[in-house]
Amino acid sequence: MIIAIDGPAGSGKSTIANILASRFGYNKLDSGAMYRTVAFICADDGIDLNDEDAVVRRADALDIAFDTTGPRARVLADGRDVTDDIRTPATDRIVSAVSAYPGVRSALLPCQRAFANGRDVVAEGRDIGTVVFPDADLKVFLTADPRERARRRVLQRHPEGAPDATTMERELTQTLADLERRDEIDAHRAVAPLRAADDAVSIDSTAHTIDEIVDRIVELANERRAQ
Ligand code: C5P
Repeated sequence: MIIAIDGPAGSGKSTIANILASRFGYNKLDSGAMYRTVAFICADDGIDLNDEDAVVRRADALDIAFDTTGPRARVLADGRDVTDDIRTPATDRIVSAVSAYPGVRSALLPCQRAFANGRDVVAEGRDIGTVVFPDADLKVFLTADPRERARRRVLQRHPEGAPDATTMERELTQTLADLERRDEIDAHRAVAPLRAADDAVSIDSTAHTIDEIVDRIVELANERRAQ
């Protein structure tokens, strides 16, 4: 079975996909991590990110692997552990420009499809239900109010607890601007833009707990499995 979860940044895709994958014993495909890896490696190699040909060449040559043997999945780029590097605000800011290049998308598409070969998968991203797995058994499009999505991102960066009100407001303003800019590029690019597949179930997570969303998706998955 393939469960596709698409949606904008901070909509809860990763958290929910992780819970679903461990609940069902499925493999989780984090397609965003792959685009992040291309962006980070190109920047780290000193490639001009406006040079589409150079970025695509690097993406074509890059080997991206997931190591799921430990408690937390690690992302390896040509064998180098980039798990933490790809989650920084700096990578957040460059990834959408890189992922808009059609050549980068076509370099990653076969790897994403190969990941699901003969396996049960929960896959999360922007174009999973529309492009990567158009025949997925269940497609969910997760959304949430932009300010709520920004708030979740800021809190994720402070695992020790929410910062003071002034810091929170400053980080919220910056994160909201970054997130809206990224959504704008992702939703308006020519190839595989962020959008709900026609047969996706849309779920607005703004006013719901993670458990409520997971329960709803489990219910939908069980219905599909029984069909
Ligand atoms: O999901 P995450 O926020 O990690 O994705 C990072 C970026 O990767 C997105 O903003 C988008 O530009 C790109 N992406 C994409 N297609 C996907 C998954 C992610 O273009 N399927």
